[in-house]
Amino acid sequence: TAERALPKRHHHLPNSHPTYFTNPIAMVRARDCRFYDEHGRSYLDALNNVTLVGHGHPRLVDVAARQLGRLNTNTRFVYDVLSEYAERLTATLPDGLDVVYFVNSGSEANDLALRMSRYLTKRDDVVIIDDAYHGYTTTVADVSPSRYKHYGKPDTTHPTPVPDRYRGRYGYDDPEAGAHYARHVIETFDRLAAEGRPPAAYLFEALLAGGGQVVLPPGYLAPIFAAASRAGAMTIADEVQVGFGRLGEAFWGFQTQGPDVVPDFVTMGKAMGNGFPVAAMVTTREISQAFDATGRFFSTYGGNPVACAVGLELLKVVEEEGLQQNALETGQYLRDVLAALAPKHELIGDVRGQGFYSGVEFVLDRETKEPASEETLLICERLKDRGVLVYPTGPAWNILKLKPPLSFTRDHADEFAAALDAVLEEGW
Ligand code: PMP
Repeated sequence: TAERALPKRHHHLPNSHPTYFTNPIAMVRARDCRFYDEHGRSYLDALNNVTLVGHGHPRLVDVAARQLGRLNTNTRFVYDVLSEYAERLTATLPDGLDVVYFVNSGSEANDLALRMSRYLTKRDDVVIIDDAYHGYTTTVADVSPSRYKHYGKPDTTHPTPVPDRYRGRYGYDDPEAGAHYARHVIETFDRLAAEGRPPAAYLFEALLAGGGQVVLPPGYLAPIFAAASRAGAMTIADEVQVGFGRLGEAFWGFQTQGPDVVPDFVTMGKAMGNGFPVAAMVTTREISQAFDATGRFFSTYGGNPVACAVGLELLKVVEEEGLQQNALETGQYLRDVLAALAPKHELIGDVRGQGFYSGVEFVLDRETKEPASEETLLICERLKDRGVLVYPTGPAWNILKLKPPLSFTRDHADEFAAALDAVLEEGW
């Protein structure tokens, strides 16, 4: 129970590892879009960020169990499931992105992409989007925002403004917003070149989670990619949150910015194994070969047969169950029912997102847009009491981050909206 587990947990885990909610829930099982706690109470999962095809998907459970019973080893042996998985995974990516480095977490994938960029360009500096989170290894912590940085050397990290059309200078009604925000990034490349420290890499997410569930404006990445190419900087798409069909319009987040946006490195994790640790960095043969000169790459667990079996089955399930299409359609439906609450509840400042990755931003005043930070946390606590799970994000923690499994239905969306309506109605 929570009473028994919590004191031991507090004793043995670092304080930097907080639980969700002031009265944390002891979860015992989960299926599809619902969790069940120790008292058998169910909770609708809109805060999920890994179980892409739903909790405990029977096909994944089955392949994992069978593979674990048959063979689990490392990639220095040859086994079919690795080759089959690598083939199927890279078939989802633009031509040329063929070489897979299997690792165990999103942080490792980003770490490797950064290491390769720096080695191949013989440069150090990295341009990022402000308030991003890219992981916890020492190198990656350096390119994540200040609140995650403890021992880093941030002097080689160059944040560029979040292209936030709700709060920023260029709004949703400006068709040129993408180009305007891109200019800041291009100017950063130019400034670094002028200072004699041209960037090794440009690292980005296709929908900014840390920045506050910000959808990239159309036409943002293409000019940045053209400028990165001119500057000799490598491009890294962090698809840890946004990949695998979540954004609906495309399988990979970067693809929502058009066909000219083809990264040198694509990093992935989270959804990839539906909660089982599976992660990878994918690049081209040319880049991979150039990096081979530094020696071998080996990860003990990366690409193990169980990880590959689960990852492969997940790709099949996403396709066979039409989950990307559901993300597109039901994701929009969810935003529509939430936006329909805005006329009634002044606190709702903005509803935005792509596919099944949305944000609801709460403000104290629609003119000043002062963040309703405390209220947002309280809303999450009240939603939890009503059996609905979601959590705040963003620099001021005033945005609901909605990331349900891709099997979320219209009924689930209605259930979520009704609970939010009731909580906002209730007041505090
Ligand atoms: N990139 C992004 C965009 C993330 O959100 C995260 C994790 N929240 C990571 C990388 C790091 O992934 P992991 O925790 O699997 O190392």
